Amino acid sequence: MTSGQAWCPAYIGIGSNLDDPVARVRRAVDSLRALPQSAAFAHSGLYRSAPMGPGDQPDFINAVAACLTRLDARQLLHELQAMEYAQDRQRDAGHWGPRTLDLDLLALGQGVLDEPDLIVPHPRIHERNFVLLPLAEITPYLLVPGHGSVVRMVAAIAGSGPRIERLE
Ligand code: ATP
Ligand code: CA
Ligand code: CA
Repeated sequence: MTSGQAWCPAYIGIGSNLDDPVARVRRAVDSLRALPQSAAFAHSGLYRSAPMGPGDQPDFINAVAACLTRLDARQLLHELQAMEYAQDRQRDAGHWGPRTLDLDLLALGQGVLDEPDLIVPHPRIHERNFVLLPLAEITPYLLVPGHGSVVRMVAAIAGSGPRIERLE
C-alpha cells in the first residue's frame, strides 16, 4: 500500500464507552501523539454519541486524530491494537459491544488496502456521523479514496445517524 518510508497523513477514529470514556479518549490522544516514526499531530474535539450496536450500553465518546507517519497500514494497525490492549480492551464483548477503547484506521493518504483483517479506507467511514463530524474538524477537504471529500460525505448523511453532541 505504502512504502513505509514516505511521509503520509493518517487519520484515526477513537471511541470509548466504558470506565471513564472521556479520560480514556484523552489518554488515547496522548498515546497517538507518541506514535513512532510519526509527527505533526492534530486532533478533533470530543463528541458524545448514542451506541450504534446493542442499545443497552452507555453512550460513546468519540474523536479523530491525525498525524504524518512513515508507518505503513499494517504497522499502524499493530500500534493501534497495542494501545487498545494497554487500555484493557476485551475482544469478547460481541460485535459493536461496549469497549474501553476502539481505534480504527480511517484513511492513510490515498492508500487503498483490502485484506481480510485490514481494509483502508475504513469500510464504514461514510456512514458514521461520529467519525465524519470530528474528521471534518481536522480535514474537511480530504479526498477519501472511493468516497470523495469529507464535506461531501457529511452532506450525504444530512444529519442522520445516531444522536450526537460535541462536548468541547
Ligand atoms: P467497525 O470496524 O465496524 O468499526 P469494530 O471497530 O467494533 O467495528 P473491531 O472488533 O474493533 O471492530 O475490529 C475487528 C477487526 O477489524 C480487527 O481485528 C481488524 O483486524 C479489522 N480491521 C479491518 N480494517 C480495519 C481498519 N481500517 N482499522 C481497524 N481495524 C480494522
Ligand atoms: Ca470501530
Ligand atoms: Ca475497531
